[in-house]
Amino acid sequence: MTTRIHAIRTGLVQVRRPQMESRGGSAPARLAHMLFDEEWSEWLPVYAWAIEHDEGIIIVDTGETSRVHERGYHPRWHPFYRRAVHFSVHPEEELGPQLRALGIGARDVRQVVLTHLHTDHAGGLVHVTGSRIWASRGELDAADGLAGRLMGYLPHRWPKWLQTESIRFERRAVGPFEEAMALTERGDVLVVPTPGHTPHHVSVLVCGEPSFLLAGDTSYNQSLLLAGKVDGVSPDPAVSRHTHARILGLARERPLVYLPSHDPESVARLRHHSALSPGTASSFDGARPAA
Ligand SMILES: [Zn+2]
Repeated sequence: MTTRIHAIRTGLVQVRRPQMESRGGSAPARLAHMLFDEEWSEWLPVYAWAIEHDEGIIIVDTGETSRVHERGYHPRWHPFYRRAVHFSVHPEEELGPQLRALGIGARDVRQVVLTHLHTDHAGGLVHVTGSRIWASRGELDAADGLAGRLMGYLPHRWPKWLQTESIRFERRAVGPFEEAMALTERGDVLVVPTPGHTPHHVSVLVCGEPSFLLAGDTSYNQSLLLAGKVDGVSPDPAVSRHTHARILGLARERPLVYLPSHDPESVARLRHHSALSPGTASSFDGARPAA
C-alpha cells in the first residue's frame, strides 16, 4: 500500500492580520497588534491530516470543534478570544465525521501527533479515543494551569481520558534537522522539532518522492515562509527564523511539499505534489500578497 495523505478541513478561522505576519516591535507591541489591528485575515482553513500508512493510520492535529459556538466555551475574560479570533465550525466538519466519511473508523487510528496544543489543533481530541497520542512535554507544561489559560490554551476542554505520550527526539539527521522521532518501523514518517510559533512546536515529515511536511503553524502560509515573515504569535522571532531556514534547507535537498495548517493553498499543493522551491521563488513569492 502506498502512503496517502488526506487533508481534513475542520472549519474556518479568522485572525487579525498581524497574527499571520508580525509588524515587529517589542512583545507587548506585537500582542497589541494582534488584539487591536483593524485589518483581518480572510477566512482561513483549519486542517488536520490523516496519513494512511500500511503500519496504521496516523493523524496529525485534530482540528477544531463546533463547540466553539457554545456560549462560554472560550473563556470570555480572555482578550484573545474576545478580540482576536473568529471561528466557523459545523458539527459535520469535525474530525470524527470526516474520518468516517473517508472510511476510517475511530479504532483504525493508531497514532495522533499534536504539532502544538492551541485550541484549533487540539479541539478534536474527543474523536481519537484509544490511539497513542504524542505531544511535546514542553508544550504540555506550557498549556498547564493558570499560566496555560492565560496563554490561551484550553486544557480544561480536553477529554478527561486524555493521556499523552511525550515526544522524544533522538539523534537522527534529516537534512538540516539533527533530531527526529520515527512513528513507523520503516522510519518513513518522522516527527521533527520546529519551534517558533510555540517553543516546543513539532512537525511531521512523510518521506517519499516527494516528501510532505505537515507543518502545523510554522507559518500561516507558504508565501510568508518564502518571504521570511514571522507570525505575531512566536515568542522569539529568531527561533521561528531558524526553523524556517531549516525547512527551506530541507526543501533544497529533496522535493518537499509544505503543508501548514491554515494555508488555503495547502490542499492544491498536496494534490499536485507542488514542492517548495526556496532558491528561485523567494523574491517572487515575497513580492506577492500572502495567499
Ligand atoms: Zn497555533
